[in-house]
Amino acid sequence: MRSTGTGPSTLAITALTVIITEIPVRLMRRHGSGDVGGSVKNAIVKIETNAGITGWGDAAPWAVFTGTIEATAAALHVYLRPLLIGADPFRIEALMDQADHAVVGHPEAKAAMEMALFDIMGQASGLPVAELLGGRCRDDIPVSFSVADPDVDRDMEMVRRVYGEGLRRFKMKTGFAGHAADLKRMERFRKEVPGDAELRIDYNQGMATYGAIRQLRDVEAFKPTFIEQPVPGHHRAALAEITRALDTPVLADESVFTPTDALQVAAGRMADLVSIKIMKHGGMLAGRKVSAICEAAGIACCGGDMFETGIAHLAGTHMIAATPNISLGCEFYQATYFLERDLLAAPFPIENGRVIVPKTPGLGVSVDEDRVRHYAVETLT
Ligand SMILES: [Mg+2]
Repeated sequence: MRSTGTGPSTLAITALTVIITEIPVRLMRRHGSGDVGGSVKNAIVKIETNAGITGWGDAAPWAVFTGTIEATAAALHVYLRPLLIGADPFRIEALMDQADHAVVGHPEAKAAMEMALFDIMGQASGLPVAELLGGRCRDDIPVSFSVADPDVDRDMEMVRRVYGEGLRRFKMKTGFAGHAADLKRMERFRKEVPGDAELRIDYNQGMATYGAIRQLRDVEAFKPTFIEQPVPGHHRAALAEITRALDTPVLADESVFTPTDALQVAAGRMADLVSIKIMKHGGMLAGRKVSAICEAAGIACCGGDMFETGIAHLAGTHMIAATPNISLGCEFYQATYFLERDLLAAPFPIENGRVIVPKTPGLGVSVDEDRVRHYAVETLT
């Protein structure tokens, strides 16, 4: 195993605190794989060093997609803590390698740990995380808003509001109310939203494999930019058939967690596009590995997220900024539109429908510790 001993920095990690927060949410979200409403739980990670620099991370598990909050907190508190205490926080690749050997899976816990380490390295070096990853290739990233409220009138009102604020990309969640209802919502969207609004469709695995191609041909009439993960993630052969049958590009999300998944999907040309999420791959470096494999096959990527606070959104922003192949924008609307209040001290930087990539050191926006304490339901030290 690679060394995590002394150097190259003079920093050493002195403390790891895991704070489970429960933040009420303002919208109801329905997906093919399950509903999210009421509140969300995140595991907020605070890593302290002997130099007085503190790094922050956010793990946002979703029980029906990546894992549970209980397992995420245990992974950080029990299994990853021993690697971190006393280690040089600059040895990020080595620490992530050790993390993979300490506990299998738990990508959200690893993503939170990694973003806190990059936050420390950035603050210590005076550089934003995007620069540490190779330098930004874009200064802003267009945001996609999810159309996922079961109350369709309220949903369309929200779409009009965010359209008015400059957003032009919309992702309609489908596969939870039947094919006819899905088509009706698409029809309404195309009728009521100006023509320069982009419609993307995401089934979150909610479609039965038999009959999928025939139903998706109906969906193609609404000219979506892409159709995301219609069938269950492990049904990759069916996904490949759908990709070959449709004119509309097909995007793989739940089918691609690891670089090995990406290799299989890319080599088999099982999808036209892939969603990159730090919570599903286990961090920015892992997300870039998946993107690189996709790039080699001519597969462009989209920057997805889970039910994250602004802390994780910032990590995703820096990753996308530094990765040319993640070219389909991002979905970082939760901190602004979904959570009752975000945990960042300043608003997550969205202007005119685009995330502005921070130019300040580390993740680039500080955390409001009082607010973290306000929403804390459990603290593990
Ligand atoms: Mg998805």
